[in-house]
Amino acid sequence: MKFDFTDQVAIVTGGTRGIGRAISTAFLSAGGRVIATYLENETAAAAFQSSLGEQSDRLSLFPVNVVDYQKVEAFYREIDKQGLVPDVLVNNAGIRKDGVLAMMPPGDWSKVIATHLDGTYNMTKFAIKAMIRKRYGRIVTITSPVGKYGFAGQANYAAAKAGQVGLTRALSKEVASRGITVNCVSPGFIGTDLIADLPEKQRQYYIDQVPLKRFGKPEEVASCVLFLASRESGYINGTTLEVTGGL
Ligand code: NDP
Repeated sequence: MKFDFTDQVAIVTGGTRGIGRAISTAFLSAGGRVIATYLENETAAAAFQSSLGEQSDRLSLFPVNVVDYQKVEAFYREIDKQGLVPDVLVNNAGIRKDGVLAMMPPGDWSKVIATHLDGTYNMTKFAIKAMIRKRYGRIVTITSPVGKYGFAGQANYAAAKAGQVGLTRALSKEVASRGITVNCVSPGFIGTDLIADLPEKQRQYYIDQVPLKRFGKPEEVASCVLFLASRESGYINGTTLEVTGGL
């Protein structure tokens, strides 16, 4: 099935690199208007925009630190002023700061928790307010199997990603009656900058764990996000769709 997002506005956090870039591209290809946010990498944002050709007319770029409540509020005020009301929010922005818990500096704990949990709370809170007004919305948050299984050296990331699933399940019950669905997509190992630092031996070990014997592609995550974000998925709520090659 080909999904049509003509006349819809999708916000994609971290929407200019990696998985987020593939999600933004997929929404644009499906006719949507995309607001892609990022933290600070202007070069990647500009490269993304210039790769798009005429589709770039439907792309807006905003540097917004999702951790900063005031900045997020100002972002929503700005897009509202521009007449852009979100139909879709994809909470995709994320980071890793791995280390065993006994040696983990407090900053590495709190930065990972804040990016995924405060970030998801901040972005979702204001999106929900706009969506309630139009009695329609789709929220998709990118979690990780690490939240479910836990990997040694990723206690901060595992806690953050499991927290996103809990937030999703609770919120899905709060807003269902307003025509808003809230779900997660959980990608396995996807070849992006986020895991580019893995040593070759560890990378091969992870590939061996995947029944499909390869890392996934950002586009393979994006197609699942579009599915959950589509009008056609209106009866899927509070769930997590795993895109892991069978992990
Ligand atoms: P990348 O590192 O390739 O891209 C991360 C994006 O998030 C960038 O656009 C970055 O902005 C943005 N970002 C980071 N912190 C913030 C912040 N505080 N505020 C706003 N934007 C921010 O990551 P991936 O594409 O690999 O990951 C995307 C999501 O998928 C993450 O949530 C990650 O946890 C999850 N995931 C990834 C997997 C993988 O194997 N790659 C597996 C499972 C889940 P900028 O460009 O300015 O730096």
